[in-house]
Amino acid sequence: MLAIFGGTFDPVHLGHLRMAIEAAEALSARELRFLPCRQPVHRAPTRASAKDRLAMLQLAIQGEPCFRVDRREIERATPSYMIETLTSLRLENPDESITLILGMDAFATLPTWQAWQKIPEWAHLLVLRRAHSPVHITEPLQALLYQRQVDRPAALAATTAGKICYLQTTPLDISSSAVRALLTEGRSARFLLPDSVLDYIQAQQLY
Ligand code: ATP
Repeated sequence: MLAIFGGTFDPVHLGHLRMAIEAAEALSARELRFLPCRQPVHRAPTRASAKDRLAMLQLAIQGEPCFRVDRREIERATPSYMIETLTSLRLENPDESITLILGMDAFATLPTWQAWQKIPEWAHLLVLRRAHSPVHITEPLQALLYQRQVDRPAALAATTAGKICYLQTTPLDISSSAVRALLTEGRSARFLLPDSVLDYIQAQQLY
């Protein structure tokens, strides 16, 4: 099982890292790849550059053997469309289960993604609930869930793609925007993200 976790990671924080560990364990993934996007398609530009977001991720995953950073979206000249990313990952891993990990808020926006209905052809979806973010699951997503939902993450390993599962992970109410806001105000963000990442932010004077 290959697990993919996309995001802006501006900056990566302990909420991301904890959910990644719990998702990787629930999936028995051999590898979990953080996939920083170049510039998000559906939201404001990132504050930190692609290079800095990548460097922060590299620091954050040190010592966690099944974590990797995948640079393909950062290196692609065009905007980050998940369908293109999944197609290229599938070409490299034709016979392996691939699971895209999504926060609940990201899942709710799925029907606005490019070619979203084709996404389950290339990967499973593991949707992680997020603290304090009640989201509205619209009718097209409910129909998708009706066709494809399974109860347990372990069930995803039975096929290479096409299923959707929810997973409750330890709720950590941390967001990159809250971390950025603290730092912009000159306040401490310690214990919300790894010390190595915080040291990098200070050295590079980000946020
Ligand atoms: P921002 O505050 O700038 O919106 P973010 O903290 O949501 O950033 P992203 O890089 O946009 O971070 O998140 C990547 C993915 O991780 C998204 O699917 C998001 O829903 C999920 N996510 C981020 N933080 C948490 C958290 N604390 N708990 C659960 N899911 C999270």
